Amino acid sequence: MDLEPRQHAPVIDPGPIALNRRGFLGLGGAAGLATAALFSPGFARAAAQRPDSPAASGKPRKQAKNVIFMVSDGMSFGTLTLAEIVRRARDAKSTHWPTLWSREGVRRSTMRTASANSLVTDSSAAASAWGSGVHINNDAVNFTPDKQTPVPILIQAKQNGKATGLVTTTRVTHATPAGFIANCPSRNLEDAIARQIAERNVDVVLGGGGKHFPDAMRSSLTGTTIVSKSAEMAAAAKDKPLLGLFSKSHTPYDTDRGPDDPSLAEMTRVALARLEHAPNGFVLQIEGGRVDHAAHANDAGSLVHEQLAFDDAIGVVLAWLENRDDTLLIVTTDHANANPGLTLYGPETYRCVERLGRTKHSFEWLFEQLQTKLGYDDPVDTTKFKNEDRIPSLIEEATGVTLRPDEIAAFTRALRGQQAALFTPMSSPACTLGACLANHLGVAFISPNHTADYVELTSMGPGSELIAPFIDNIELHEVMIKSLDLAPAKAI
Ligand SMILES: [Zn+2]
Repeated sequence: MDLEPRQHAPVIDPGPIALNRRGFLGLGGAAGLATAALFSPGFARAAAQRPDSPAASGKPRKQAKNVIFMVSDGMSFGTLTLAEIVRRARDAKSTHWPTLWSREGVRRSTMRTASANSLVTDSSAAASAWGSGVHINNDAVNFTPDKQTPVPILIQAKQNGKATGLVTTTRVTHATPAGFIANCPSRNLEDAIARQIAERNVDVVLGGGGKHFPDAMRSSLTGTTIVSKSAEMAAAAKDKPLLGLFSKSHTPYDTDRGPDDPSLAEMTRVALARLEHAPNGFVLQIEGGRVDHAAHANDAGSLVHEQLAFDDAIGVVLAWLENRDDTLLIVTTDHANANPGLTLYGPETYRCVERLGRTKHSFEWLFEQLQTKLGYDDPVDTTKFKNEDRIPSLIEEATGVTLRPDEIAAFTRALRGQQAALFTPMSSPACTLGACLANHLGVAFISPNHTADYVELTSMGPGSELIAPFIDNIELHEVMIKSLDLAPAKAI
Protein backbone atom coordinates (compact mmCIF):
# COMPACT_ATOMS: atom_id res chain seq x y z
CA MET A 1 0.00 0.00 0.00
CA ASP A 2 1.30 3.41 -0.90
CA LEU A 3 0.90 5.60 2.14
CA GLU A 4 1.92 8.75 0.34
CA PRO A 5 -0.56 11.62 0.29
CA ARG A 6 -2.79 11.73 -2.73
CA GLN A 7 -3.48 15.41 -3.06
CA HIS A 8 -1.44 15.67 -6.22
CA ALA A 9 -3.37 14.79 -9.38
CA PRO A 10 -1.32 13.25 -12.18
CA VAL A 11 -0.73 15.48 -15.17
CA ILE A 12 0.65 14.87 -18.63
CA ASP A 13 4.40 14.80 -19.15
CA PRO A 14 5.32 18.06 -20.90
CA GLY A 15 8.17 16.35 -22.79
CA PRO A 16 10.01 18.94 -24.82
CA ILE A 17 8.37 21.87 -23.01
CA ALA A 18 10.64 21.39 -20.05
CA LEU A 19 13.49 19.59 -21.74
CA ASN A 20 15.75 19.82 -24.67
CA ARG A 21 17.41 16.49 -25.38
CA ARG A 22 20.38 18.13 -27.03
CA GLY A 23 21.45 18.98 -23.51
CA PHE A 24 21.51 15.35 -22.44
CA LEU A 25 25.22 15.12 -21.77
CA GLY A 26 25.29 13.16 -18.58
CA LEU A 27 25.87 14.07 -14.99
CA GLY A 28 29.49 14.92 -15.57
CA GLY A 29 29.25 16.41 -19.05
CA ALA A 30 29.06 19.97 -20.25
CA ALA A 31 26.21 22.22 -19.22
CA GLY A 32 22.84 21.25 -20.64
CA LEU A 33 21.03 23.40 -23.15
CA ALA A 34 17.62 22.76 -21.73
CA THR A 35 14.73 25.14 -21.52
CA ALA A 36 16.47 28.24 -22.85
CA ALA A 37 13.23 29.77 -23.99
CA LEU A 38 11.54 29.31 -20.65
CA PHE A 39 14.25 30.52 -18.32
CA SER A 40 14.16 34.04 -16.98
CA PRO A 41 17.69 35.03 -16.01
CA GLY A 42 16.46 38.19 -14.35
CA PHE A 43 14.07 36.31 -12.11
CA ALA A 44 16.50 35.48 -9.36
CA ARG A 45 17.93 39.00 -9.42
CA ALA A 46 14.46 40.49 -9.16
CA ALA A 47 13.72 38.26 -6.20
CA ALA A 48 16.95 39.29 -4.53
CA GLN A 49 15.96 42.94 -4.76
CA ARG A 50 12.74 42.66 -2.82
CA PRO A 51 12.80 45.51 -0.29
CA ASP A 52 10.99 43.62 2.48
CA SER A 53 13.70 41.01 2.88
CA PRO A 54 16.30 41.44 5.65
CA ALA A 55 18.69 39.23 3.72
CA ALA A 56 18.40 41.48 0.66
CA SER A 57 20.01 44.43 2.41
CA GLY A 58 22.76 42.65 4.34
CA LYS A 59 26.16 41.29 3.41
CA PRO A 60 27.85 38.28 4.94
CA ARG A 61 30.81 39.01 7.17
CA LYS A 62 32.73 36.28 5.38
CA GLN A 63 32.11 34.44 2.15
CA ALA A 64 31.16 30.78 2.30
CA LYS A 65 32.80 28.24 0.03
CA ASN A 66 30.13 25.60 0.56
CA VAL A 67 26.47 25.35 1.52
CA ILE A 68 24.99 22.26 3.15
CA PHE A 69 21.19 22.49 3.28
CA MET A 70 19.57 19.82 5.43
CA VAL A 71 15.82 19.18 5.33
CA SER A 72 13.83 16.94 7.62
CA ASP A 73 10.79 16.92 5.36
CA GLY A 74 7.46 17.48 7.06
CA MET A 75 8.91 17.89 10.54
CA SER A 76 6.60 19.40 13.12
CA PHE A 77 8.36 20.57 16.24
CA GLY A 78 6.76 17.65 18.06
CA THR A 79 8.73 15.28 15.82
CA LEU A 80 12.00 16.90 16.81
CA THR A 81 10.94 16.65 20.46
CA LEU A 82 9.95 12.99 20.23
CA ALA A 83 13.24 12.00 18.62
CA GLU A 84 15.15 13.80 21.36
CA ILE A 85 13.09 12.19 24.13
CA VAL A 86 13.48 8.69 22.68
CA ARG A 87 17.22 9.05 22.12
CA ARG A 88 17.75 10.28 25.66
CA ALA A 89 15.67 7.45 27.12
CA ARG A 90 16.98 4.66 24.93
CA ASP A 91 20.55 5.69 24.18
CA ALA A 92 21.31 7.97 27.14
CA LYS A 93 22.46 10.82 24.94
CA SER A 94 21.02 13.83 23.19
CA THR A 95 20.24 14.18 19.50
CA HIS A 96 22.54 16.48 17.53
CA TRP A 97 19.98 19.06 16.45
CA PRO A 98 19.01 20.45 19.90
CA THR A 99 22.63 20.21 21.01
CA LEU A 100 23.48 22.69 18.26
CA TRP A 101 21.38 25.37 19.93
CA SER A 102 23.91 25.74 22.73
CA ARG A 103 26.86 26.18 20.39
CA GLU A 104 28.51 29.51 20.01
CA GLY A 105 27.71 31.12 16.66
CA VAL A 106 24.60 29.03 15.99
CA ARG A 107 21.46 30.96 15.07
CA ARG A 108 17.86 29.90 15.54
CA SER A 109 15.00 31.22 13.48
CA THR A 110 11.32 30.59 12.99
CA MET A 111 10.22 30.28 9.37
CA ARG A 112 6.95 30.85 7.54
CA THR A 113 6.19 28.24 4.93
CA ALA A 114 3.05 29.30 3.01
CA SER A 115 3.11 28.93 -0.78
CA ALA A 116 1.71 31.28 -3.43
CA ASN A 117 -1.74 29.73 -3.42
CA SER A 118 -2.03 28.01 -0.06
CA LEU A 119 -1.42 28.73 3.61
CA VAL A 120 -0.48 25.06 3.83
CA THR A 121 2.39 24.41 1.46
CA ASP A 122 3.42 21.21 -0.21
CA SER A 123 7.04 20.12 -0.52
CA SER A 124 7.55 21.21 -4.11
CA ALA A 125 6.44 24.81 -3.55
CA ALA A 126 8.45 24.93 -0.32
CA ALA A 127 11.63 23.53 -1.90
CA SER A 128 11.19 25.86 -4.87
CA ALA A 129 10.99 28.81 -2.48
CA TRP A 130 14.48 27.89 -1.30
CA GLY A 131 15.64 26.78 -4.74
CA SER A 132 14.75 29.91 -6.69
CA GLY A 133 13.54 32.47 -4.15
CA VAL A 134 9.98 32.84 -5.35
CA HIS A 135 6.61 31.73 -4.04
CA ILE A 136 4.86 29.41 -6.47
CA ASN A 137 1.71 27.32 -6.32
CA ASN A 138 1.58 23.94 -4.64
CA ASP A 139 2.45 21.06 -6.96
CA ALA A 140 4.74 23.13 -9.21
CA VAL A 141 8.55 22.92 -9.23
CA ASN A 142 10.25 26.27 -9.93
CA PHE A 143 7.45 27.00 -12.37
CA THR A 144 5.28 30.07 -11.82
CA PRO A 145 1.57 30.44 -12.62
CA ASP A 146 2.53 32.58 -15.64
CA LYS A 147 4.92 29.85 -16.79
CA GLN A 148 8.18 31.53 -15.85
CA THR A 149 10.97 29.18 -14.83
CA PRO A 150 13.36 30.81 -12.36
CA VAL A 151 16.85 29.34 -12.27
CA PRO A 152 17.28 26.76 -9.46
CA ILE A 153 20.17 27.22 -7.04
CA LEU A 154 22.15 24.14 -8.13
CA ILE A 155 22.27 25.44 -11.70
CA GLN A 156 23.41 28.86 -10.59
CA ALA A 157 26.01 27.25 -8.34
CA LYS A 158 27.24 25.12 -11.23
CA GLN A 159 27.53 28.19 -13.46
CA ASN A 160 29.71 29.68 -10.74
CA GLY A 161 32.07 26.71 -10.81
CA LYS A 162 30.73 24.85 -7.81
CA ALA A 163 30.04 21.15 -7.49
CA THR A 164 26.53 20.07 -6.56
CA GLY A 165 24.83 17.21 -4.75
CA LEU A 166 21.43 15.81 -3.82
CA VAL A 167 21.01 13.18 -1.11
CA THR A 168 17.61 11.92 -0.03
CA THR A 169 15.69 8.96 1.33
CA THR A 170 12.86 9.61 -1.15
CA ARG A 171 13.02 9.18 -4.88
CA VAL A 172 15.70 11.60 -6.10
CA THR A 173 13.02 12.94 -8.44
CA HIS A 174 10.75 13.81 -5.52
CA ALA A 175 9.69 17.34 -4.62
CA THR A 176 12.45 18.47 -2.29
CA PRO A 177 15.50 17.54 -4.38
CA ALA A 178 13.61 18.70 -7.47
CA GLY A 179 13.18 22.14 -5.92
CA PHE A 180 16.96 22.67 -6.06
CA ILE A 181 17.52 21.51 -9.65
CA ALA A 182 14.36 21.20 -11.77
CA ASN A 183 11.68 23.28 -13.49
CA CYS A 184 8.38 21.51 -14.01
CA PRO A 185 4.71 22.48 -14.03
CA SER A 186 4.01 19.53 -11.73
CA ARG A 187 6.04 17.55 -9.20
CA ASN A 188 4.33 14.42 -10.53
CA LEU A 189 6.29 14.59 -13.78
CA GLU A 190 9.10 12.60 -12.27
CA ASP A 191 10.31 11.10 -15.55
CA ALA A 192 10.87 14.66 -16.75
CA ILE A 193 12.54 15.62 -13.49
CA ALA A 194 14.84 12.59 -13.82
CA ARG A 195 15.87 13.78 -17.27
CA GLN A 196 16.56 17.24 -15.91
CA ILE A 197 18.68 15.83 -13.09
CA ALA A 198 20.66 13.94 -15.73
CA GLU A 199 20.99 16.93 -18.06
CA ARG A 200 21.87 19.46 -15.45
CA ASN A 201 25.08 17.84 -14.30
CA VAL A 202 24.60 17.20 -10.61
CA ASP A 203 27.84 15.64 -9.36
CA VAL A 204 26.45 13.40 -6.63
CA VAL A 205 22.86 12.10 -6.60
CA LEU A 206 21.94 9.48 -3.97
CA GLY A 207 18.53 8.14 -3.02
CA GLY A 208 15.62 6.17 -4.46
CA GLY A 209 13.67 6.54 -7.69
CA GLY A 210 15.34 4.03 -10.01
CA LYS A 211 12.08 3.53 -11.91
CA HIS A 212 12.42 7.02 -13.36
CA PHE A 213 15.85 6.29 -14.87
CA PRO A 214 15.26 3.79 -17.71
CA ASP A 215 18.09 1.75 -19.19
CA ALA A 216 18.41 4.04 -22.20
CA MET A 217 18.98 7.00 -19.93
CA ARG A 218 21.47 5.10 -17.79
CA SER A 219 23.50 3.96 -20.78
CA SER A 220 23.66 7.57 -21.96
CA LEU A 221 25.32 8.64 -18.74
CA THR A 222 28.81 7.80 -19.87
CA GLY A 223 31.36 8.91 -17.34
CA THR A 224 28.96 8.59 -14.43
CA THR A 225 29.20 5.74 -11.96
CA ILE A 226 25.74 4.30 -11.35
CA VAL A 227 25.24 2.13 -8.28
CA SER A 228 22.28 0.44 -6.63
CA LYS A 229 23.73 -1.08 -3.47
CA SER A 230 25.40 0.29 -0.40
CA ALA A 231 28.64 -1.64 -0.96
CA GLU A 232 28.84 -0.44 -4.57
CA MET A 233 28.44 3.12 -3.39
CA ALA A 234 31.30 2.72 -0.94
CA ALA A 235 33.55 1.19 -3.61
CA ALA A 236 32.73 3.64 -6.42
CA ALA A 237 35.55 5.55 -8.09
CA LYS A 238 36.03 8.87 -6.33
CA ASP A 239 36.86 10.91 -9.41
CA LYS A 240 33.62 10.45 -11.35
CA PRO A 241 30.10 11.74 -10.91
CA LEU A 242 28.02 9.32 -8.86
CA LEU A 243 24.37 8.36 -9.32
CA GLY A 244 23.11 6.02 -6.60
CA LEU A 245 19.59 4.68 -7.07
CA PHE A 246 18.97 2.26 -4.22
CA SER A 247 15.31 1.55 -4.77
CA LYS A 248 12.69 1.73 -7.51
CA SER A 249 10.69 4.17 -5.46
CA HIS A 250 11.57 5.67 -2.08
CA THR A 251 14.31 3.99 -0.08
CA PRO A 252 12.94 1.79 2.71
CA TYR A 253 12.09 3.29 6.07
CA ASP A 254 15.09 3.14 8.38
CA THR A 255 13.53 0.31 10.42
CA ASP A 256 12.97 -1.74 7.24
CA ARG A 257 16.39 -1.31 5.61
CA GLY A 258 18.28 -4.35 4.39
CA PRO A 259 22.07 -4.75 4.06
CA ASP A 260 22.08 -3.25 0.56
CA ASP A 261 20.17 -0.14 1.58
CA PRO A 262 22.42 2.70 2.76
CA SER A 263 21.30 4.91 5.63
CA LEU A 264 20.94 8.65 5.14
CA ALA A 265 24.06 9.08 7.25
CA GLU A 266 26.05 6.73 4.99
CA MET A 267 24.89 8.55 1.86
CA THR A 268 25.78 11.86 3.47
CA ARG A 269 29.26 10.65 4.32
CA VAL A 270 29.86 9.47 0.76
CA ALA A 271 28.58 12.72 -0.74
CA LEU A 272 30.80 14.85 1.47
CA ALA A 273 33.86 12.70 0.80
CA ARG A 274 33.44 13.45 -2.90
CA LEU A 275 32.32 17.05 -2.85
CA GLU A 276 35.01 18.18 -0.41
CA HIS A 277 37.53 17.90 -3.24
CA ALA A 278 35.69 20.40 -5.44
CA PRO A 279 38.17 23.26 -5.83
CA ASN A 280 35.50 25.98 -5.83
CA GLY A 281 33.28 24.42 -3.21
CA PHE A 282 29.83 22.90 -3.45
CA VAL A 283 26.12 23.14 -2.68
CA LEU A 284 24.64 19.97 -1.18
CA GLN A 285 21.04 19.32 -0.22
CA ILE A 286 20.41 16.45 2.22
CA GLU A 287 16.83 15.36 2.86
CA GLY A 288 15.30 13.05 5.43
CA GLY A 289 12.28 12.68 3.21
CA ARG A 290 10.43 9.88 4.91
CA VAL A 291 9.90 11.81 8.11
CA ASP A 292 7.12 13.41 6.07
CA HIS A 293 5.75 10.07 4.94
CA ALA A 294 5.62 8.72 8.48
CA ALA A 295 3.73 11.83 9.57
CA HIS A 296 1.23 11.47 6.71
CA ALA A 297 0.70 7.87 7.80
CA ASN A 298 0.36 8.82 11.50
CA ASP A 299 3.07 6.21 12.09
CA ALA A 300 4.63 7.42 15.35
CA GLY A 301 7.32 4.74 15.58
CA SER A 302 8.59 5.34 12.06
CA LEU A 303 8.39 9.08 12.57
CA VAL A 304 10.77 8.87 15.50
CA HIS A 305 13.17 6.50 13.74
CA GLU A 306 13.25 8.56 10.53
CA GLN A 307 13.98 11.69 12.54
CA LEU A 308 16.72 9.84 14.41
CA ALA A 309 18.20 8.74 11.07
CA PHE A 310 18.12 12.34 9.92
CA ASP A 311 19.82 13.36 13.14
CA ASP A 312 22.54 10.78 12.49
CA ALA A 313 23.15 12.54 9.18
CA ILE A 314 23.46 15.83 11.07
CA GLY A 315 26.11 14.10 13.15
CA VAL A 316 28.05 13.17 10.01
CA VAL A 317 27.87 16.75 8.77
CA LEU A 318 28.99 18.19 12.11
CA ALA A 319 31.96 15.84 12.21
CA TRP A 320 32.88 16.95 8.69
CA LEU A 321 32.54 20.60 9.72
CA GLU A 322 34.93 20.17 12.64
CA ASN A 323 37.70 22.79 12.33
CA ARG A 324 36.16 24.33 9.21
CA ASP A 325 34.77 27.84 8.91
CA ASP A 326 34.05 27.91 5.18
CA THR A 327 30.60 26.29 5.10
CA LEU A 328 27.11 27.64 5.67
CA LEU A 329 24.98 24.93 7.31
CA ILE A 330 21.20 25.25 7.32
CA VAL A 331 19.11 22.62 9.12
CA THR A 332 15.36 22.98 8.83
CA THR A 333 12.13 21.56 7.45
CA ASP A 334 9.88 22.61 4.59
CA HIS A 335 6.66 22.50 6.63
CA ALA A 336 5.09 20.87 9.63
CA ASN A 337 3.04 17.72 9.17
CA ALA A 338 0.29 16.14 11.29
CA ASN A 339 1.60 17.89 14.44
CA PRO A 340 2.35 14.82 16.57
CA GLY A 341 2.95 15.00 20.28
CA LEU A 342 3.35 12.85 23.34
CA THR A 343 0.08 13.64 25.05
CA LEU A 344 -0.54 11.40 28.06
CA TYR A 345 0.46 12.13 31.69
CA GLY A 346 2.49 10.54 34.43
CA PRO A 347 4.69 7.42 34.56
CA GLU A 348 2.92 6.01 31.49
CA THR A 349 4.80 8.61 29.38
CA TYR A 350 8.08 6.82 30.12
CA ARG A 351 6.64 3.47 29.13
CA CYS A 352 5.31 5.00 25.91
CA VAL A 353 8.73 6.36 25.02
CA GLU A 354 10.26 2.96 25.69
CA ARG A 355 7.75 1.35 23.31
CA LEU A 356 8.43 3.99 20.65
CA GLY A 357 12.13 3.18 20.80
CA ARG A 358 11.41 -0.52 20.19
CA THR A 359 9.48 -0.12 16.92
CA LYS A 360 10.42 -2.93 14.56
CA HIS A 361 8.85 -1.95 11.24
CA SER A 362 6.94 0.82 9.51
CA PHE A 363 3.27 0.98 8.59
CA GLU A 364 4.49 0.63 5.01
CA TRP A 365 6.00 -2.75 5.89
CA LEU A 366 2.83 -3.69 7.76
CA PHE A 367 0.52 -2.83 4.86
CA GLU A 368 2.74 -4.79 2.48
CA GLN A 369 2.30 -7.76 4.80
CA LEU A 370 -1.46 -7.23 4.82
CA GLN A 371 -1.39 -7.26 1.04
CA THR A 372 0.81 -10.28 0.55
CA LYS A 373 -0.45 -12.43 3.43
CA LEU A 374 -4.09 -11.36 3.79
CA GLY A 375 -4.97 -10.20 0.29
CA TYR A 376 -5.81 -6.71 1.49
CA ASP A 377 -5.92 -4.19 -1.31
CA ASP A 378 -6.69 -0.51 -1.44
CA PRO A 379 -9.46 0.18 -2.28
CA VAL A 380 -10.41 -2.90 -0.38
CA ASP A 381 -11.60 -5.94 -2.30
CA THR A 382 -13.56 -7.89 0.30
CA THR A 383 -13.63 -11.00 -1.87
CA LYS A 384 -9.85 -11.25 -1.53
CA PHE A 385 -9.43 -9.98 2.04
CA LYS A 386 -9.04 -13.12 4.14
CA ASN A 387 -7.51 -14.33 7.39
CA GLU A 388 -8.36 -11.28 9.42
CA ASP A 389 -7.40 -13.12 12.57
CA ARG A 390 -3.76 -12.58 11.61
CA ILE A 391 -4.07 -8.80 11.83
CA PRO A 392 -3.22 -8.52 15.57
CA SER A 393 -0.03 -10.55 15.25
CA LEU A 394 1.15 -8.56 12.23
CA ILE A 395 0.57 -5.29 14.08
CA GLU A 396 2.44 -6.67 17.06
CA GLU A 397 5.30 -7.79 14.84
CA ALA A 398 5.63 -4.29 13.37
CA THR A 399 5.03 -2.12 16.40
CA GLY A 400 5.60 -4.32 19.43
CA VAL A 401 2.12 -3.31 20.64
CA THR A 402 -0.75 -5.68 21.43
CA LEU A 403 -3.93 -3.85 20.47
CA ARG A 404 -7.22 -4.34 22.34
CA PRO A 405 -10.06 -6.22 20.56
CA ASP A 406 -12.06 -3.01 20.10
CA GLU A 407 -9.04 -1.36 18.50
CA ILE A 408 -8.51 -4.31 16.17
CA ALA A 409 -12.19 -4.09 15.23
CA ALA A 410 -11.89 -0.39 14.42
CA PHE A 411 -8.79 -1.00 12.28
CA THR A 412 -10.48 -3.86 10.42
CA ARG A 413 -13.48 -1.63 9.71
CA ALA A 414 -11.10 0.99 8.34
CA LEU A 415 -9.46 -1.59 6.08
CA ARG A 416 -12.91 -2.33 4.71
CA GLY A 417 -13.63 1.37 4.18
CA GLN A 418 -16.23 1.40 6.94
CA GLN A 419 -14.56 3.56 9.59
CA ALA A 420 -15.74 7.18 9.81
CA ALA A 421 -13.75 9.67 11.88
CA LEU A 422 -15.46 13.00 12.56
CA PHE A 423 -12.51 14.76 10.89
CA THR A 424 -12.95 12.96 7.59
CA PRO A 425 -9.28 12.70 6.51
CA MET A 426 -8.63 10.69 9.68
CA SER A 427 -10.89 7.83 8.51
CA SER A 428 -8.14 6.03 6.56
CA PRO A 429 -6.75 2.68 7.72
CA ALA A 430 -3.37 4.23 8.54
CA CYS A 431 -4.85 7.08 10.60
CA THR A 432 -7.18 4.65 12.38
CA LEU A 433 -4.21 2.46 13.26
CA GLY A 434 -2.25 5.52 14.38
CA ALA A 435 -5.13 6.55 16.65
CA CYS A 436 -5.41 3.04 18.13
CA LEU A 437 -1.67 2.95 18.76
CA ALA A 438 -1.88 6.35 20.47
CA ASN A 439 -3.49 4.54 23.39
CA HIS A 440 -0.23 2.60 23.80
CA LEU A 441 2.48 4.86 22.39
CA GLY A 442 1.02 8.10 23.74
CA VAL A 443 1.54 9.97 20.46
CA ALA A 444 -1.54 11.50 18.81
CA PHE A 445 -1.78 13.31 15.48
CA ILE A 446 -4.17 16.05 14.40
CA SER A 447 -4.43 15.00 10.73
CA PRO A 448 -2.72 13.13 7.91
CA ASN A 449 -1.84 16.43 6.23
CA HIS A 450 0.77 19.16 6.28
CA THR A 451 -0.05 22.08 8.55
CA ALA A 452 0.48 25.85 8.42
CA ASP A 453 2.67 25.93 11.54
CA TYR A 454 5.82 28.00 11.54
CA VAL A 455 8.92 25.80 11.69
CA GLU A 456 12.37 25.56 13.26
CA LEU A 457 15.47 26.66 11.40
CA THR A 458 19.00 26.30 12.76
CA SER A 459 22.02 27.72 10.96
CA MET A 460 25.74 28.26 11.46
CA GLY A 461 28.74 29.33 9.46
CA PRO A 462 29.42 32.24 7.11
CA GLY A 463 26.23 33.92 5.97
CA SER A 464 24.08 32.57 8.78
CA GLU A 465 24.14 36.04 10.31
CA LEU A 466 21.91 37.14 7.43
CA ILE A 467 19.11 34.88 8.65
CA ALA A 468 16.73 36.91 10.81
CA PRO A 469 14.96 35.39 13.85
CA PHE A 470 11.67 35.32 11.93
CA ILE A 471 11.86 34.81 8.18
CA ASP A 472 9.96 33.75 5.12
CA ASN A 473 11.18 30.60 3.38
CA ILE A 474 12.07 32.44 0.13
CA GLU A 475 14.70 34.49 1.98
CA LEU A 476 16.95 31.46 2.34
CA HIS A 477 17.59 31.57 -1.39
CA GLU A 478 19.09 35.03 -1.12
CA VAL A 479 21.08 33.99 1.91
CA MET A 480 22.70 31.18 -0.08
CA ILE A 481 23.41 33.42 -3.10
CA LYS A 482 24.98 36.10 -0.91
CA SER A 483 26.91 33.72 1.30
CA LEU A 484 28.47 32.04 -1.73
CA ASP A 485 28.73 35.36 -3.61
CA LEU A 486 27.26 33.74 -6.70
CA ALA A 487 27.17 35.74 -9.93
CA PRO A 488 23.65 36.15 -11.33
CA ALA A 489 22.20 33.10 -13.02
CA LYS A 490 22.41 32.88 -16.80
CA ALA A 491 19.83 31.24 -19.04
CA ILE A 492 20.91 27.71 -19.86
ZN1 LIG B 1 4.12 15.58 2.56
